Amino acid sequence: MTSELASPASVPSAAARDAVFDPDSWYAEEIERTIITEDEIRAKVAELGALVSADFAEGVLDSGDELLLVGVFKGAVMFMADFARALSVPVKMEFMALSSYGSSTTSSGTVRILKDIDSDVAGKHILVVEDIIDSGLTLSWLLKYLEGLHPASVSVVSMLRKPGVQRVDIPVKYVGFDIPNEFVVGYGLDYAERYRELPFVGVLKPEVYQK
Ligand code: 5GP
Repeated sequence: MTSELASPASVPSAAARDAVFDPDSWYAEEIERTIITEDEIRAKVAELGALVSADFAEGVLDSGDELLLVGVFKGAVMFMADFARALSVPVKMEFMALSSYGSSTTSSGTVRILKDIDSDVAGKHILVVEDIIDSGLTLSWLLKYLEGLHPASVSVVSMLRKPGVQRVDIPVKYVGFDIPNEFVVGYGLDYAERYRELPFVGVLKPEVYQK
């Protein structure tokens, strides 16, 4: 396997910017605009699933072995659930919970494990499933931690990435969308624990932060 990007990430479409909400929805008053629509997410998950399946099927996984998906609570839960079902190779799933010190909208890179993986990952092919790469500090810490457990390989799939703001150079092989450097919510991503259940990715109205 190589570490370069396997496929170019998509950028938000004009269709997404113009997407209109159901005016009767509870969130219509709180979301300013959509960045990525539900349809675009669905298509991207299928594309990433096919790509990863092809890469790991070609003699990478030993017979009887599974790809070990490691999802990070809570943001990656929606993507993990969809992505696992888009794969055509067998998987096992692990979840970690990390606490990254920082404000409600930025991370600091000082990470503490709140929930660790439960199984022995030595010799396994690990694919870290991420919601978003912002500064990259959390992921950089996680990759070093996982490498220390002596897996066969560690790679990363992230649904979203904010290009140009990474403070560390991390090899992320699979990226869904490169998005503008704005704070986004939905599809697992929260603001003050809200909005994770939105099926699209969007930007909040400024007044929400003032509440
Ligand atoms: P990083 O360490 O790359 O700066 O950020 C890691 C974590 O911060 C992400 O996994 C995510 O939980 C959170 N995060 C970063 N950017 C955003 C964003 O735009 N919106 C939300 N809701 N969370 C974000």
